Amino acid sequence: MRILKTLNQPVFSSFYGISLEIKREDLIHPFVSGNKFRKLKYNLLQTKSEDKDTLLTFGGAFSNHIAAVAAAGKENGFRTIGVIRGEELRNGFGDNPTLNFASNCGMEFDFISREEYRKKTTQDFILQLKKNWGDFYLIPEGGTNDLAVLGCQEILEESDADFDFICCSVGTGGTISGLINSSKSHQKIIGFPALNGDFLKEEIRKFATNERWELIDDYVFGGYAKHSTELITFINRFFSETSIPLDPVYTGKMVFGVIDMIRNNYFPKDAKILMIHTGGLQGIDGMNMKLQKQHSPLLLKDV
Ligand SMILES: *Cc1c(COP(=O)(O)O)cnc(C)c1O
Repeated sequence: MRILKTLNQPVFSSFYGISLEIKREDLIHPFVSGNKFRKLKYNLLQTKSEDKDTLLTFGGAFSNHIAAVAAAGKENGFRTIGVIRGEELRNGFGDNPTLNFASNCGMEFDFISREEYRKKTTQDFILQLKKNWGDFYLIPEGGTNDLAVLGCQEILEESDADFDFICCSVGTGGTISGLINSSKSHQKIIGFPALNGDFLKEEIRKFATNERWELIDDYVFGGYAKHSTELITFINRFFSETSIPLDPVYTGKMVFGVIDMIRNNYFPKDAKILMIHTGGLQGIDGMNMKLQKQHSPLLLKDV
């Protein structure tokens, strides 16, 4: 895997006296999106060093992580298996863009019921998977483990030391843990959960090496992969004004939250804020598919 480039892009030059920039991690790889690239990096090296040739992981039918593992597997010569929530997909997944992309990368699927999916971390279930598929390197749902956090520690660079606040979206907590661990002692990390759940703080505490972080759960927008017309309208306006695309599941909620908090004077007047664009843009097509069925306004997109 190679990193093309990372850059910080100003969002608004003078916004309530605050400096607001976004780190375009969505641009570091064409298919292995943003933080998923960081989370996979050391796991792929570990797979090679264990002499394994197969990656197996879990996810929902529109998962950024599934798409990233499929693409990374293809690029690095690993067989990939995606254990996907939703047995009804066994009969075909139609024009689901995520699963079609993953399948084209060579990923094989194991579609399981929601009930089975809940057992996915148990020893019995994993043994059964090994019987069915042979030996594999297991990557947890969302990709978070110690090696993933290590990779995410590389998101912040020396040139980011000037910022006072680092903001990111939170799913399983791996990305924010990496940011927390590599931040400077004057910096504070603010996470915006994309889903409801009290388990998140505990998860982050398992990995984080300091306490300079906070979760803001006022911008969950109803739950994981839920959407609102207000959020869609915001993402489209932001794209028109900045040419920066945001995804509806993670980064859209985070940027909405940061701008709302600036308006509400959460940040000091001269604050330097860095938002991390963790990618996830492959999710736009899938969301538009759902929005179209409901005759709702669609997300604008680049290409
Ligand atoms: C997966 C994902 C996240 C969440 O990352 P975690 O490490 O699971 O907290 C955030 N943003 C995007 C775009 C993602 O795809």
